Amino acid sequence: MESVIVVGGGLAGLRAVEALRSQGYTGNLTLVGAEVHEPYDRPPLSKSVLTGESTDTALPADWEHLRCALRLGERAEALRLHGDRPGGILETTAGALEFDGLVVATGGTPIRLPGEGPQHVVRTVDDVRGLRDSLREGARLVIVGAGWIGAEVATVAAGKGCRVTVLEAADTPLAGAIGPELGELTARWYAEAGVELRCGVKVASVDRGGLLLVGGEFVAADAVVTGIGVRPETDWLADSGLDVGRGVVVDASLRTSRPEVVAAGDCAAWWSDRYGRRLLVEHWDTALNAPAVAASSLLGQDAVYDPVPYFWSEQFGRMVQYAGHHPAAERMVFRGSPDGPDWAVLWLSGDRLVALLTVDRPRDMVQGRRLIENATALDTDLAVDPGVALRNAVRRGTGPGTGSA
Ligand SMILES: Cc1cc2nc3c(=O)[nH]c(=O)nc-3n(C[C@H](O)[C@H](O)[C@H](O)COP(=O)(O)OP(=O)(O)OC[C@H]3O[C@@H](n4cnc5c(N)ncnc54)[C@H](O)[C@@H]3O)c2cc1C
Repeated sequence: MESVIVVGGGLAGLRAVEALRSQGYTGNLTLVGAEVHEPYDRPPLSKSVLTGESTDTALPADWEHLRCALRLGERAEALRLHGDRPGGILETTAGALEFDGLVVATGGTPIRLPGEGPQHVVRTVDDVRGLRDSLREGARLVIVGAGWIGAEVATVAAGKGCRVTVLEAADTPLAGAIGPELGELTARWYAEAGVELRCGVKVASVDRGGLLLVGGEFVAADAVVTGIGVRPETDWLADSGLDVGRGVVVDASLRTSRPEVVAAGDCAAWWSDRYGRRLLVEHWDTALNAPAVAASSLLGQDAVYDPVPYFWSEQFGRMVQYAGHHPAAERMVFRGSPDGPDWAVLWLSGDRLVALLTVDRPRDMVQGRRLIENATALDTDLAVDPGVALRNAVRRGTGPGTGSA
């Protein structure tokens, strides 16, 4: 391979460039990124950047050392793959580029609501700088969507003295992500922070001065934030012949149907043997770790990406962390009381831990991730006791965690 293009200048794009070089690729390397900024970290955007505590989240990178040509402010518009040989042509807003190998790392785009009124989304550093200026004391802020982003923005806005209302179409926050029973437990956090949460409310449109709800009610707002999810940024692949559904369809090695095209990060839907299904995980850990596998695959090595998915969220003064994949779990048990300051939820299949949610219990998360990865059997009576370290709740003689703390 003499020329590789990485499309997308986010965390996954940068990590792909670094991995290609560290794994011995010596040919031409180009990164094409639609944003004018060099790759930066997104998690702080809805946290310390929105509060104003930090301004710069640039990811450290030595482009000269990486011998990577940076083409920023340039958007990929179409992909034409050769029919008779590997490689193809990438059409961008600045022209056409030939390649032998391609990494798709174009992430996701926030979904917007219909309507002519102004609405903020929270995806880029420029989005957040614009929103930050609207978070003035006493301002009426309406956030649509009580998901991870909505909760984090509500936290910051309430802290700045805004009058915050969150509108959620489902009956509880986070119903899709962690289920309504647990989602309901987070509703009280909104109330404690002085945030009005209205569930079961559907927005028809964002108009000047507020939002029109389905049913005719008008909710006045000085600023509106739409946090209803993202869709993978794959429109530019529409005529490429690649399989694109909700995300670029890739195998367990992150290869598309064309081995010289791989995908990683928020835009990639990969096959997981661990879970027996395709996963698309729009979280930081995936963008951090999947590109190394994508790079190996592109360079013809055998590599598989099959992690226990992980993410975190900081909301209403709490650190919420999740690992695993719970839809196929047989049962869910609490570890500690959700009325207390810190607690966790274990999802089990038989006596194996398959997923874990923790609220202000980071040590449980560190230990639990290992137990999930190793499919270790737990003694449930011990595991539900928050006074027993999770690694000491291992069923005797069944796993690496057996033994004392
Ligand atoms: C505000 C915010 C807070 C978050 N907080 C957390 C958190 O607390 N915990 C957690 O686990 N995860 C969090 N995440 C998720 C995490 O940041 C993402 O999963 C991660 O950034 C995905 O990286 P990526 O490189 O795949 O995609 P992106 O970061 O979306 O990068 C893709 C890049 O590709 C560019 N691009 C798109 N289309 C094209 C094109 N056609 N041509 C060229 N370039 C293109 C985009 O402009 C973008 O710069 C957060 C995300 C956001 C937005």
